[in-house]
Amino acid sequence: MEILKNYINGSWTESREQQTANVVNPANQEVLAKVPYGEKTVFDVASAVSFAVEALKEWRDTPVMKRVQPLYKLKQLLEENIDEIARLITLECGKSFAESKAEMQRAIENVETACGTPMLIQSEFSENVATGIDEFMIRQPVGVCVCISPFNFPGMIPFWFLPYAIACGNSFIVKPSEKVPLTMMKVFELIDQLDLPKGLINLVHGGKASVDALLDHPDVKAISFVGSTNVARYIYQRGAANGKRVQAQGGAKNPVIVMPDADIDMTARIIADSVYGCAGQRCLAASNIITVGDHDGFIKEALAEAAKSKTTGFGLDAGIEMGPVISPESKIRIENLIAQGVSEGANLLLDGRNAKISGYEAGNFIKPTILENVALDGEVVKTEIFGPVMSLLPMDSIDQAIDFVNNNAYGNMACLFTSSGLNARTFRNRANAGNIGINIGVAAPMAQFPFSGWNNSFFGDLHGQGRHGIEFFTQTKVVIERWPKEWLRKF
Ligand code: NAD
Repeated sequence: MEILKNYINGSWTESREQQTANVVNPANQEVLAKVPYGEKTVFDVASAVSFAVEALKEWRDTPVMKRVQPLYKLKQLLEENIDEIARLITLECGKSFAESKAEMQRAIENVETACGTPMLIQSEFSENVATGIDEFMIRQPVGVCVCISPFNFPGMIPFWFLPYAIACGNSFIVKPSEKVPLTMMKVFELIDQLDLPKGLINLVHGGKASVDALLDHPDVKAISFVGSTNVARYIYQRGAANGKRVQAQGGAKNPVIVMPDADIDMTARIIADSVYGCAGQRCLAASNIITVGDHDGFIKEALAEAAKSKTTGFGLDAGIEMGPVISPESKIRIENLIAQGVSEGANLLLDGRNAKISGYEAGNFIKPTILENVALDGEVVKTEIFGPVMSLLPMDSIDQAIDFVNNNAYGNMACLFTSSGLNARTFRNRANAGNIGINIGVAAPMAQFPFSGWNNSFFGDLHGQGRHGIEFFTQTKVVIERWPKEWLRKF
């Protein structure tokens, strides 16, 4: 099987590394490809960075209106190829075809939003800060920028950064997750069709070795990372110590509060979608469901019904709503956490372990699982499960529930279901999380908003997407100028 190539300086080039990792279909363990994985990927990084530096020379002075033109073409190419890209996402990542397509839709929306960069990058100008003296601020590119992405959104996540970076006049390197590199291979076939300077957008494969080489390279100026919290913290610390801009999005453990006045059917349906979408492998997936007050068992029943209705299987088969988790190791880790929840006193309302999907017996399938009466200090309540598991936690009051939400070590999202405006307002104001949902599960924010995240879910300052993207990918320069009136007569 051929080893996947890098895309460097406008060409598909072989890696210097011959050691590989397998790219595996999580529904049946079929090896789909081999990706370079080892110490020698550092040479690929060095090559990509040197060409990215060259490409900057022409691109940084290209007018912004011209810089966004290739993005219009990219949007069109992504739309024309969305089914093929979505098919690859499902094959290597496992989610259903509909989920993969929705993911690419969000990628395209970021390209569209970045096309507004000519407006967003406008300067600020103050005339006559003193008589005859003007002061203004311009935004200039940062340099070579890098995105290091996780396995769970192989198509969308690089687009939280790439289109903004390019529109702002930077060059870019994508390092996809070694588990799911095929999606970006296809995207780069499309990027190859754009009228861009060679070396402006590059793709390098690998794992820790290539990431460390990017973090240490003096010509890399900005790092956008998305992945687990421990790695995000490491990326932030090492990148910042090397003087780079870093935005590092980490893991999550997302709470949802259901008040007694919530609409039961709608709430149950939305929570089940949030917990089980992408088999729970979303950083915005609901996980701890806090039922406040007396629901007479109705919400529990409705959640169990909604959970049971999810059709699990191979994401390219018709009617499948939930695919496998990414790897056998991940399946074992999740099943162990479920067992630990039970050993800590929880009752299994729905047990999705030992799921057998006909024709896909080797797949990493776990069906929707619900744990009730979970110990509040239990491991399953604190740890990011990243699988299709819901924990039900009964509480007495909204105050108790908000205190619980605010004790979360993470802070990616928190939701409330209620028909009370006052409850909603109180929650929105007090909840300690960067994304808030009221009567809705939180999907990735629309491209015009920053993808916020608090506490251990984010390390840095400016987030991805929208205006934050423009700010992250530019550095400000403030210019002050004196033009004395008298000179008009002199010259
Ligand atoms: P991961 O941290 O294992 O890997 C992410 C990237 O980091 C990959 O490209 C990988 O090659 C690289 N990497 C892994 N270990 C490294 C190390 N020790 N040193 C340097 N680089 C390393 O994450 P994952 O398992 O691919 O993704 C799942 C995680 O990502 C979950 O925790 C999820 O919550 C999080 N996530 C967060 C967001 C968000 O917006 N906050 C979005 C998606 C996923």
